[in-house]
Amino acid sequence: MIDSHVHLNRDEFAADYDVVIARAATAGVNGFLNVGYDIASSEESVALARRDERILATVGVHPHDASSVADADGNITPAGLRVLDRLRELCGDPRVAAVGEIGLDFYRDLSPRPAQRAALVAQLQLAQEVGLPVVFHIRDAYTEVRSLVETVGLPRCGAVLHAFAGDDQTVAWAQKHGLLLGIGGPVTYKNSRLPGILAPVSPDEVLLETDAPWLPPVPHRGGRNEPAYLTHTAGALAEVLGIGRDELERRTDANFARLFGTAPGS
Ligand SMILES: [Zn+2]
Repeated sequence: MIDSHVHLNRDEFAADYDVVIARAATAGVNGFLNVGYDIASSEESVALARRDERILATVGVHPHDASSVADADGNITPAGLRVLDRLRELCGDPRVAAVGEIGLDFYRDLSPRPAQRAALVAQLQLAQEVGLPVVFHIRDAYTEVRSLVETVGLPRCGAVLHAFAGDDQTVAWAQKHGLLLGIGGPVTYKNSRLPGILAPVSPDEVLLETDAPWLPPVPHRGGRNEPAYLTHTAGALAEVLGIGRDELERRTDANFARLFGTAPGS
């Protein structure tokens, strides 16, 4: 199994990193996509991926941090140009598999919305330029991302909608354009709307992810999430899709390799 969205660079893992990786291996999780969300975490992701062949990296600026790229009017700042240049440089590293996580977060609104839009557009263009797929972070902004992406151009190397929590319309849109849905801990929650929304989805259209250290699945809610807990998410998703655990693992591993060009460690 591959954890297609994790943040192993976080301080939450500093004290027991090796134990966390060992527990993941015991649980059958042998590949990781470590996702950047600003320049520092993108550089850390690349460093982790260079050290461990089981890890691939992404580089990007999260919508929360869009102010580091653009101002409140949506103009790219001089500092933002340097950020984009650094990202472009990092994209040249063979261990970098995608641009992300990028998107819009209108739930927390930690950066002004015009800055979020500008940072997203600039990084979508970067992904097209360097020929890498995209990892999207979208919260309370699916309609806006759909129309923005259609204006800028669909990611030519594909994309995943990480921590998918969209509606039927977004599922149909993702299917139409061959974009994958990243499914994490919330699929295990008792009141999750995901089982209904995922009804028309095939096992070839999803990726498994933890988003660790965040979003722990049942029965670990309230604590730190870690890659070993992916087994709970896999169990719940297999049930939702009406297939066995082994088959889900096989198909999501294949989806990962198809989108990101390679599987970690191979
Ligand atoms: Zn994330």
